[in-house]
Amino acid sequence: MTPPVRPVWLRTLGLFALGLGLAAALGLASGYPWQAVALAAMAMLGWHSWKLERLTQRLMLRHRPAPSDAPGAWHELDRLLYRGQAEMRSRKRRLIEMLRAYRAAAAALPDAIVVVDRNSQRILWFNQPGTSLLGLRYPDEIGAPLVQRLQPLPLAHWLASGRHAETLEVGAPGNPAIRLNLRLIPYSENLWLLVARDVSRLLHLEQMRRDFVANVSHELRTPLTVIHGYLDMIDPGEHAELAPMLGEMQRQSQRMAQLVEDLLALSRLESQDALTAEETVPMGWMLDTLRREAMALSQDRHRVKVEDSADLDLWGSSRELHSAFSNLVGNAVRYTPDGGDIVIRFRTEDAVDGRVAGRPRGAVLEVIDSGQGIAAEHLSRLTERFYRVSTSRSRDSGGTGLGLAIVKHILQRHQARLEIRSQVGRGSTFSCHFGAERLRARRSDTSGGTAPTSSEAPA
Ligand code: ADP
Repeated sequence: MTPPVRPVWLRTLGLFALGLGLAAALGLASGYPWQAVALAAMAMLGWHSWKLERLTQRLMLRHRPAPSDAPGAWHELDRLLYRGQAEMRSRKRRLIEMLRAYRAAAAALPDAIVVVDRNSQRILWFNQPGTSLLGLRYPDEIGAPLVQRLQPLPLAHWLASGRHAETLEVGAPGNPAIRLNLRLIPYSENLWLLVARDVSRLLHLEQMRRDFVANVSHELRTPLTVIHGYLDMIDPGEHAELAPMLGEMQRQSQRMAQLVEDLLALSRLESQDALTAEETVPMGWMLDTLRREAMALSQDRHRVKVEDSADLDLWGSSRELHSAFSNLVGNAVRYTPDGGDIVIRFRTEDAVDGRVAGRPRGAVLEVIDSGQGIAAEHLSRLTERFYRVSTSRSRDSGGTGLGLAIVKHILQRHQARLEIRSQVGRGSTFSCHFGAERLRARRSDTSGGTAPTSSEAPA
């Protein structure tokens, strides 16, 4: 057990007093008491100074203090220092073992991990896949500037933008056939982790899936056209007993043809990331077309209203944007009970925030209905393929379950986003948000001369 510190010092003081007492007694006997006491005090002071000097030397030279057996304050000090240093050594050993284990774990990861200094953007450490996937060489590349070293990769802009949440998909340096997914993770104030994952296999599988769907859809097209053709040739009037069956067969073959067309449309959209041919999309003409389509679909069962306050055109693919918007309008008609309202609105984003330097922040095309609405738990999944709130209702209304997936893809290709707001029993709003870079001044001749600024079709 550790002896309490106070008694040790008391004992040292006791010994000091005893030494002085003995010296005084000897001094009295010899007739020089003060000289004897002074001599003894100096001797003891000298001994303590020597002990202090030895301890300082040992600490300076980082020698391990070996605790002596002699009792007293110096022994206690040695013992405490020895214990402190032993504890520190064992803590250091444990930390080194932990560090080794972490490094071994990071090295064993199949992903390339590069530790980067945030300020200088220099490489501090990387694991083995850092060499095989990114071509970094150890130890030459430790301390090298990351952007310069991985020159073929478009990292400079990405790092400068500081948008860590975004990932970057690039070909591996030295072997573009290997596709890498890069992610930047800030993990302390000054350190970043650059994680590079080989996604070639995943992309290959994804491509196979796309090709499969496209091929199957394509192969189904011809037999369906034949069936459709023959069904059209049969006159139900001549076969009264078969009329209900023929009607159902026609409906189902039409549904299947629509499904195949939607699958092919989705495959086409997925096969190319960027728009190839862009043009000014005349929004006056577009809104007028959407109104006519809504009215044709509705057959006077709804009030259809168009509101156009943007006085702008869009830049993109007219064909694709028309397909996206008419999907939303079609849904609004199909999921709104008779007598309901449908509003197609085109407005600038500044309606709420105000214009910045006279320019709108963006534009929104909204399709608003007073229909059945969608419960909140479904909203985030609506753009998944074949996701339906109610399968039977979607089928009955002629839906394929692919409409909103197509809308999402088309908007992504226009760097636009789809926002869905809905309340069960009150209706839904589907908003397509376009950025300022997609806006163009409205050309007067593009309105088609038929779309008024606000037009209403009575129910
Ligand atoms: P579908 O062809 O089935 O309509 P979509 O992808 O267009 O497929 O829509 C997915 C689902 O979202 C629909 O099945 C429907 O449940 C719901 N939905 C879409 N638009 C509306 C709307 N305007 N009102 C209510 N529900 C809607």
